[in-house]
Amino acid sequence: MMRLGIDIGATNIKYGIVQFKSKIRNYELKITNSVETESQKGRDFVIQKIIFLINKYKEKYNIESIGIGVPGLVDRKSGNIYNPPNLPDWNGINLQNELKDVNLPIYVKNDANCFALGEYVLRKDEKIQNLIGITIGTGIGSGLILNGKIYHGSTGFASEIGHIKVVQNGRKCNCGQKGCLEAYSSATAIEKMSEEKFGKKIAVEILHKMALNGDESAIRIFEIAFEKLGIVCAGLVNLLNLDVIVFGGGLSNMKEFLLDPVKKFVQKNSYKRIFDNVKIEISKFGMDSAIIGAASLME
Ligand SMILES: [Zn+2]
Repeated sequence: MMRLGIDIGATNIKYGIVQFKSKIRNYELKITNSVETESQKGRDFVIQKIIFLINKYKEKYNIESIGIGVPGLVDRKSGNIYNPPNLPDWNGINLQNELKDVNLPIYVKNDANCFALGEYVLRKDEKIQNLIGITIGTGIGSGLILNGKIYHGSTGFASEIGHIKVVQNGRKCNCGQKGCLEAYSSATAIEKMSEEKFGKKIAVEILHKMALNGDESAIRIFEIAFEKLGIVCAGLVNLLNLDVIVFGGGLSNMKEFLLDPVKKFVQKNSYKRIFDNVKIEISKFGMDSAIIGAASLME
């Protein structure tokens, strides 16, 4: 069975064709590619671009279904997309309706859910069942896989870990609350911290270079930011007895500056038997996880 997986981001649309043989974890990735989203040209322009992509491959590969990851909340019942922070004019739209003329089953989910599902599928040899995929960029998203399936919660909005409170009355978050994880561990938050420390905003990539060159202040900023991520991960480990916590998104390039404080905190603050089972890692699969995850969607 051939499926098309599409990951819509604010900057790029990544896509790939995946052939599944019997089980979901028995697959072959046929092609992957990426085009610019050009979201500044508006929602309708981007939707036309997606329709063009689908039509280009639909018959050539005999595509049977399409899975799409979107950067926003997706209502499980209606399929409507809500609050996509980087695609504001997509708020409230229903992508299945917009794409109904392509005449194929279309499944739409939050992009972090697709990332997590893709990591699960790609790790087929590890015999894992429970995983959380956490994407860290301008915001923080996550997808939870329990017993091999996406955990949606009651209405489909589960695993919004970016808005778990890590500090009482802490930094202001985009959601209107104070002290959320996203207000400490996202790129936006880290750049804000750099402004307080250095008197001007420093891009995360530059801050990373400074940390690699041994700049103590830059190293400290990453420690503070990702220790907060550790607080949430320690809670998740104790609650869910996970096999894997995997990080993706732009900030996963920070590698040890991200992993070390998280691991240290989780080890110190979780039950030892549970900690010993969990792998805490950066994704090794690049854009493949989001694409394969989207292509694997079936509901
Ligand atoms: Zn928040």
